[in-house]
Formats: sequence, structure tokens, C-alpha cells
Amino acid sequence: MIRGQAIQEKFFIDDFYIHDLLRDAKKATNEDIEKILQKAERFEGLSHQDVAALLVVQEKKYIDRIFEIARKIKSHVYGERVVVFAPLYVSDYCVNQCEYCGFNCDSSFRRRKLSMAEVMQEVKVLEKMGHKRIALEAGEDQENCPIDYILECIKTIYSMKFENGEIRRVNVNIAATTVDEYKMLKAAQIGTYILFQETYHQETYERVHPKGPKSDYMYHSTAFDRAMEAGVDDVGAGVLFGLYDYKYDVLGLMLHNEHLEKKFGAGFHTISVPRICDADDMLNTRYEYAVNDEDFLKLVAIIRLAVPYTGIIVSTRETKEMRKNLINIGISQMSAGSSTRVGGYSEAQADIEQFSLADNRDVKEVVYWIMEEGFVPSFCTACYRQGRSGDRFMRLAKSGNIKNVCLPNGLLTLKEYAVDYGDKRFKKLARKTTKKHMKQIKNKETKKKVTENLKQIEKKGKRDLYL
Ligand code: SF4
Ligand code: SF4
Repeated sequence: MIRGQAIQEKFFIDDFYIHDLLRDAKKATNEDIEKILQKAERFEGLSHQDVAALLVVQEKKYIDRIFEIARKIKSHVYGERVVVFAPLYVSDYCVNQCEYCGFNCDSSFRRRKLSMAEVMQEVKVLEKMGHKRIALEAGEDQENCPIDYILECIKTIYSMKFENGEIRRVNVNIAATTVDEYKMLKAAQIGTYILFQETYHQETYERVHPKGPKSDYMYHSTAFDRAMEAGVDDVGAGVLFGLYDYKYDVLGLMLHNEHLEKKFGAGFHTISVPRICDADDMLNTRYEYAVNDEDFLKLVAIIRLAVPYTGIIVSTRETKEMRKNLINIGISQMSAGSSTRVGGYSEAQADIEQFSLADNRDVKEVVYWIMEEGFVPSFCTACYRQGRSGDRFMRLAKSGNIKNVCLPNGLLTLKEYAVDYGDKRFKKLARKTTKKHMKQIKNKETKKKVTENLKQIEKKGKRDLYL
């Protein structure tokens, strides 16, 4: 483990420092907690000490305040939109032995990768579901799934056009790689490069990743440095909560984010919050740090307070009930109608899944439900195509202006979805949602433009209109 300022400059995770933070956090007084919450309410983000203090807080009155502030921050920064996307698994070949994953190299099943014809088949189904934004997922295997294959998949996906639109943004979640390969991904116009750290606790990391290239903790942890050096300016982090103490991993995320901010001028674009679920029998019995629902909600809300301008993503690993709680405390993106199998959208008998799902509703049900919860479901992909990425995106978010495009764009994509995929009942709620949220657009010019664009979509069949 690494200690000391001089070494910390070389590597951003300092195990002793994190343990010291958690030990000292127990000394925080009620007055300290009050001050931290007031600071969070001013959208200033939190220091490591502040985050640690909130992570050890137990009193209900403070936890309720954390939830309340988290919701306020989400609404202040992004408005009431919730972005919807789907994962697309293209290959389950993997040479790693991550012990929590169904694709690990010890699992015995017929592995495969999609042919380009099969990729097209999957994209057709995703488009029929209404998706415009996907996260491309693949295991690590240089031989069976090299970078050229991933690039071909991206090219294939972007080349497909349909009557109702197309997949407009491909985020990519593939193994840590070299600067040269990240440059290739950048040139292929990916959206966000996603990589989960799984856990920042090195000893645990090495125990749960015993074999394969991913077992190299340092190489994995410094992947975003190489990606950003290669010009990929949106990176999406995540840990698998439950592998180690969640408090440690939340602080690990904070240190990592800060390191990137200092070095590249922008931290994480998004943070994903998967966890080893209580419902997952196979895994839960083996993980002493599995996070219960109460702690999970608290940790997500604390992340929202700590990094107000970073998107937070929840997957269909969580139940409908949990996702309902999560959108009310600051989640800004969620997957819907997901399959975690290769070929899972177009084939009834697809192979093994990477992890099991707890929310099996289809996209239309999820989108309808988001509206019922008072939010605007959004298929927006505007920022990446408008060049609003990296530090440019962060400047816009920090100035409180991103919501001025998020909400209008959300409403425009909702209109597209309603016209193309909605039945009578859906359209009715979409109209009501739009009417309600249009009132929040204060800028007269923007309002006029959105009103005009809504008409263009409905009456003239226009698509892909955005600010
Ligand atoms: Fe492979 Fe990723 Fe699964 Fe690990 S988590 S076994 S790298 S697919
Ligand atoms: Fe995301 Fe930008 Fe669209 Fe907002 S405007 S939903 S930040 S792509």
C-alpha cells in the first residue's frame, strides 16, 4: 500500500489516507454535520473529510436531510429529466476470472461474439424499443474480441438508419487498454468510455481478480489516465458495491475523480452504482460487505452531494421499488428493457447472462413509469454531438446551465417516442408531462423554439431536433 504526499502524487489512491479519513470522521460533531449539509445545499460539492463524515452518520434526521438535498441538487443541475439507455453485449469471450461475473473464464458455456449481421439484428430490435443511446459491452479477450472487432461494431451501429431515427450515441465499456487503442475509440466517435474499478481496495481487488490482465490493479486503475491522454474526454466510472466496505469505495471514487480533475480539467462524466444484490443468492452468501438497501440509498445520495455535476447511473440490477427511491435522490440515468446476454434482444434462447436483472419491465413501461413519478424520460444524445464534452460540459453543468438544454431536449425526445411508439394512454400522459414541464422553461426564445420543434416532430415527421 502507498503512503505519503510524494507517492500520492504518483498514485491517487492512498489506503492509509482513506482509513485515516474514516477513523477521524467518527469525531465529527452535530455542528460539523450541519455545516457540511449547508455547504452541500449551496452546490459546492464536498471535501474528502465531509464525505467521510456523512458516510458514518447514523441519525435518521441527517440521513433524511441528505436525501432531500440530493434530490434538490439533481433538480438544480439537470432538471427533472432521467436519461434512458440500454446495454448491448457483443461478446462474452473473457480471459479474466472476476469471481462475481457470469462471463469469467472459469464459467463453462458456449462463448460467442456477434457477427456484424447479428449486431444489426440487435440494433434493429433496440431501435424498435425506442432506444437512441447504448452502452456497448464486451469481455476482455485480445484474440477473440480485439479492438478492430469493437471498432467494426461501432461503425456498424452508427451506419444504421431507420424511419424513426437511429442509435445516436454509443458509449463503450471494454477492458482497460493502451493509449493507442483509446485513440482508435476516440476516432470512432464513442460517447463515454466506461470502466468500473470494481473496488479501490487493492487487496480485495487482487483477491477477486486472481487471473487475467484485469488482475493488474495499477494498470486497471490508471486506464482513465490513458483514455484521457488519448483525447477521450468523457469517462464513466463505477464500483461494484459490496466487494469491500462501501465507505472506502465511495472515498476511492472521490480521490480518483479529483485526480482526473487536477490532471485533465474534468473528472468523471458519470458514476455507475452497481452492487452485489441481496437477491442474488449465488453471490450474496459469499460477500460479507454486501450493501443493504438503506446503506445503498445513503451512499448514492452522498455521491450526489459530493459531486453535484456528475451523472449517476443505475441499472436494471435494482428492483422497480429501489429504482423509484433512487430517482428521487439524484439518479440521472437508468437502463431500461435491458438484456445482459450476447444476442439477448433478438434471440429467445441466448446464452448465459453477465448478471441477473431485478427490473424486467420493457422500455415503454419504464418510460411511462418515469413520467408517473413526475420526471421527464429522455433519450437525448445532444451534448456529445454538439461538442459539449469533457471540461466544456463540466463548465456548463457547474454554471447551472446544462438543465436549460436537458429539459427541452428531454421533452423533444419524449415527443418523438410518444409519436413513434406510444399508444393512446401513453400519448396522453406524455402530453400532460410536456405541458407541466414546459412551464419550467423560462427563456422565451428557448420556449418558442421547443414549441416549434414539438410541432415539427408531430406534424411534419421531423426527428432528431435538439438544442
Ligand atoms: Fe470478464 Fe468483465 Fe466479467 Fe471480468 S467483469 S469476467 S472482465 S466480462
Ligand atoms: Fe445529457 Fe446533454 Fe442531453 Fe442533457 S442535453 S440529457 S446532459 S446529452
